[in-house]
Amino acid sequence: MQNDVVSYFLDLVAIDSESRKERDLVDKLKKDLEELGAIVEEDDCGLKFDGNAGNLYAYFPGVINKKPILLCAHSDTVVPGKGIKPTIENGRIFTDGTTVLGGDDKSGIAEILMAIKQIKDKGIAHPPIEVVITVSEEIGLLGAKNFDISKLQAAFGYALDTHQVGEVVIGAPSQNSLQINFYGKEAHAGVEPEKGLNAICLAAEAITAMPNGRIDFETTCNIGIIQGGSATNIVPKEVLVKGEARSHNKGKLQKVCEEIEQVVISTVKKFNANGAKASFHFELKEEYEAFLISRNAPVVALAEKALQNLHLPADIKVGGGGSDANIFNAKGLPTIIVGTGMNNVHTTDEDILVDELYRGTAFVEELIRLYTEE
Ligand SMILES: [Zn+2]
Repeated sequence: MQNDVVSYFLDLVAIDSESRKERDLVDKLKKDLEELGAIVEEDDCGLKFDGNAGNLYAYFPGVINKKPILLCAHSDTVVPGKGIKPTIENGRIFTDGTTVLGGDDKSGIAEILMAIKQIKDKGIAHPPIEVVITVSEEIGLLGAKNFDISKLQAAFGYALDTHQVGEVVIGAPSQNSLQINFYGKEAHAGVEPEKGLNAICLAAEAITAMPNGRIDFETTCNIGIIQGGSATNIVPKEVLVKGEARSHNKGKLQKVCEEIEQVVISTVKKFNANGAKASFHFELKEEYEAFLISRNAPVVALAEKALQNLHLPADIKVGGGGSDANIFNAKGLPTIIVGTGMNNVHTTDEDILVDELYRGTAFVEELIRLYTEE
């Protein structure tokens, strides 16, 4: 295993790990965590969603008798993430523009493992440390949702999975996903269009009338996918529409989803006013629950103190995205999200500064050190 976080990060980036295809990376991490002295278990959650690897749970025994501290990151990257070719120039690591960099979340993994390595190399006494590396986070927090959190003994945790080092995310919204099938009737578009019922027109009218974008300061919704039709000379009989809604307020989330459903019902009704037989199927799924941790909670105070000791400004905020922290918090383990230096994530312009990798590692090391002392 490397001694330097930048070399180690580059090693991790060289191993492809798009969601569901994380086997090679998980094998390497298992080996590295063991080399650092952890007892490592891999679960079989991948079987449930066609992934080729499971979540890693690593336990580092400590010499200080205290509950463990939890550090967590995810092993998958978004697409395009195959054959990543990183370049370092002027202290910045970036790709050739054909793939993402995978700093989301390999910067988090590298910083956790290197910080623990430094603690070990320096012989610093520490309490037990738990590390969880989840799989398939990017496609709906699948690893975390299927992880047996009851095995965790930690007092609280840190998910290393947001932008600049110093960013501390103490809250995140709930999210519902929506799937709507609109059904019309197929007919030859040139010969007898009168016999058809155009499902694309039906969906278009409904989507136009739906709430969309930013609803208020804590609520958003979006239609992101539309699929339908098979040929220009056929009146389309079916359209699939997929979207999502998020809110930090559960009541508002429910309200905006009900409004969307109401629009679907009334639009179909309008199409059927003169005897047509349009129909729909509306499906709502609760993806994850919102959380908000008090600024004074020990998990936040420790992060703030660690940043202060390193003379890094703390940027404490409430986020807009879901992460493994939503799942851990919903199951009763206070977990906040902290920055790793990752930048422009989920794009082929993704990059990270070398200095941020060093700062992120120092931050994790300081978290462990402070937790030991307090
Ligand atoms: Zn991530």
